[in-house]
Amino acid sequence: MKKILLSITLLASCTLPQSSFAWGADGHQTVGAIADALLVGTKAGAQVKALLGDATLEKMSVWADCVKGIAPDKDFAYTSTGRYAECIPFETASGIAAMADYVKRNNDACHPGPGEESCHKQYHYADVSLQHAHYQTGYTGTSDHDVVHAIQAAALVLQDKPQPAPFNIKDKAEALALITHFIGDIHQPLHVASAFLDADGKLINPDEVAHDQHNNTVGGNALQCPCGNFHALWDDVPVQFKHGRMNTMLTKKARTLKLVSAPIDALPVLWADDAISDATRVFGGAQFSKSTVGQYGNSWSIGLPLEYEKTMLSVKEDALARAGAHLAQLLQAIWPE
Ligand SMILES: [Zn+2]
Repeated sequence: MKKILLSITLLASCTLPQSSFAWGADGHQTVGAIADALLVGTKAGAQVKALLGDATLEKMSVWADCVKGIAPDKDFAYTSTGRYAECIPFETASGIAAMADYVKRNNDACHPGPGEESCHKQYHYADVSLQHAHYQTGYTGTSDHDVVHAIQAAALVLQDKPQPAPFNIKDKAEALALITHFIGDIHQPLHVASAFLDADGKLINPDEVAHDQHNNTVGGNALQCPCGNFHALWDDVPVQFKHGRMNTMLTKKARTLKLVSAPIDALPVLWADDAISDATRVFGGAQFSKSTVGQYGNSWSIGLPLEYEKTMLSVKEDALARAGAHLAQLLQAIWPE
């Protein structure tokens, strides 16, 4: 394939993401809505209803992002009232108290290092070098509180089993909101895989060569494309998927997927492997500049092949359908018929 730096056509047609939330709220709600539909008439569906009452997986899917409005340095006050439409249902007095309580329980038990985020924010991702074929705990960019472990912890709570530190999930309803969100995240390739680059823009494997944190493009956050931040470009959901417009089509697609079965604990590891494999498509044909000093330490420009939008659409559509199917699969494994 001819590798040409991003053309003006793509630049003109790219839509800028509304927020820095993974998948954007639309993507997470789509994943929840697919699972809501797949679980109709099942025992797992009845359990979900018993735990969530009038709420749905679709509605609760964004809760783990809404809690990011709680500011530990402002005495755990909620600082984004009215900013995100999808968070408004949680902005009651008791809703805000519940969000603050979660953040207090999941703020620093993971002992964030200098420059690292609050623990609950780290639950949303991993940064495995895309030169690995598989996720493996211990690789650079993994931790005992990355997105794989977060799904495992929430699944344990849903099974009445003890959860490992640093997780502090209060009850099954909270676990259900979290698992719905994190299963969305683990299907966003850049929430699992990351490119590690040297100063010349050459890919390196941080588990094979000496490196420091400045080589990590932080899930694409340190990559600039003509659309802006490369991670945000991937978080954004294509316009045709917004506001649930394609949920019926995606649910149909989700029903036809062949799902690999495995013990509950092993499922998120397999999904992380899929995300790493998707990341090779995300970076297929990409070219990197030499590094400059940016917000995350080093920063690189990324040039993308022609027709990159088509690749994005296909990867995103597939990932959203798979995420919804996997969420339903996991809940049905927890609550079998
Ligand atoms: Zn997230």
